[in-house]
Formats: sequence, C-alpha cells, structure tokens
Amino acid sequence: MRKPLLAGNWKMNTISQESVKLAIDLKNLVAEVNDRDILVCPPFTAISQVADTLRDSVVMVGGQDMFWEDKGAFTGEVSGGMLKSVGATYVIIGHSERRQFFGETDATVNKKLNAAHKHGLLPIVCVGETLAEREGNKTLQVIETQIKGSLNGLPKEQMGKTVVAYEPVWAIGTGKTASPEQAQEVHAFIRKLIVELFDQATADEVRILYGGSVTPDNIKILMSQADIDGGLVGGASLKADNFAKIVKY
Ligand code: PEP
Repeated sequence: MRKPLLAGNWKMNTISQESVKLAIDLKNLVAEVNDRDILVCPPFTAISQVADTLRDSVVMVGGQDMFWEDKGAFTGEVSGGMLKSVGATYVIIGHSERRQFFGETDATVNKKLNAAHKHGLLPIVCVGETLAEREGNKTLQVIETQIKGSLNGLPKEQMGKTVVAYEPVWAIGTGKTASPEQAQEVHAFIRKLIVELFDQATADEVRILYGGSVTPDNIKILMSQADIDGGLVGGASLKADNFAKIVKY
C-alpha cells in the first residue's frame, strides 16, 4: 500500500517569522497523524528555521527547487547538498511555475532529478498540461513527453523513491480543480507509463500526487481515486488550519 503524501508548497511566501509561526501552528494541529506523510516546502530562506522548528514533529521539510551541480560559480543557485545540510529531505522539481517563468525543461528536470537522488533527497517531479493543450486534446501526449523526458535513464531503484505530481497548469492557483475523473485518467496513464519504462512493481510503489487548487473540500473525493496517492498544495497550505484539514481528509 502506498502511504499518502500531503505536501505544501509555500512558493514565494512567508518571511522568516511567518514561516516559523506557520510551522508551529501546523505541527500542533497534525501532531497525532501517523498514517500519512506530511511535508512542507518553504522558500530557501526559511528552510533551516522551519526544519529546526519541526525537528521532533511528524512534518517533514523540502525545497521548492535545486540546481544539479554540487557547488561552484552558479550565482543564485542552491545545491542538493545545501538543502540536505539544513534539514530538507524532499525537493520539488520542475514545478510548472519554474517551467513557465524560469526556462525549466524536461532535460533540466532530468539533471536535477539525478542530482537529488545523488544527495539522498526524495524528488517530487511535476508534470501537467496547459489549458490550450487540454482543449486541443493533447493532455496525454504532453504528459507522456514530460514523463519520458524527465525520467529518462533513471535507475529503477531511484524511480521507486521518486514522487510524481500531476498538476494541470490551468488548475494551479485558479480555483479550478480537475474533476476526480479527469485527474484519475491522467494518474492511471502516468502509472502505465512507469510500468512501460520500468516495471509493474516499481509503478505500484511510486506515489502520484495531484496538485491544482486542492482544498479541504475537494481532497477527500480526489483521494478516493485509485491512482491518487496524495496532494501537492499551494495556496491552501499557507493557512495551518486549512492544510491540517487537507492532511486529515
Ligand atoms: C502548487 O503550487 O503546486 C499548486 C498546486 O498550487 P495551488 O494549490 O494554489 O493551486
């Protein structure tokens, strides 16, 4: 059985004190939860403090991105080793906002994915179609290209430790959620691709998260779908009580 993973992506929100308060509030609200994994991904500047705050709690901490090189003249970048050193255990890779605004491609996602595994970070690889692609009936084609490009050459053992997030771009931050059936169709398709690229046992192990306007009101029905193993939550993860409700769906 795949253990559900509920992950909060704080994006470019929370200055230092706000991040600690949010972490403390969340920690208290979910203290009793033990049958699912809980993760928050604060901005880089807050990871260290949030990880210290959550040290003895059930909530884990991750980065929102990382660079593939270990160190050197790469101004503004952060390596997997740096994330690890401040307490991160997960890292989001290839979020659609990074693809859209910062030139992320399947090839760069692939390099980052390999680097994340090298540093022992658990990567959450994001894929998803735009509205134009969905309306042009290209959703599955786009997902296939993104999955094949992003996971290219990954050893099977590493695939088993990789999380995939299906995040339709048109559903992110828009209040429009994919219907449970729309999400399930793509999740099942992604799992089938993982069977083809790796094998059934690996595909059975991989958690596939849904992301895109997840709220306390829609999480339960989404989680009732066979291939939805958790959520990647943006806006609703910035309020501790909302995210706690999502965690406890
Ligand atoms: C996200 O940031 O990955 C996301 C899904 O955002 P939101 O929940 O706000 O749509």
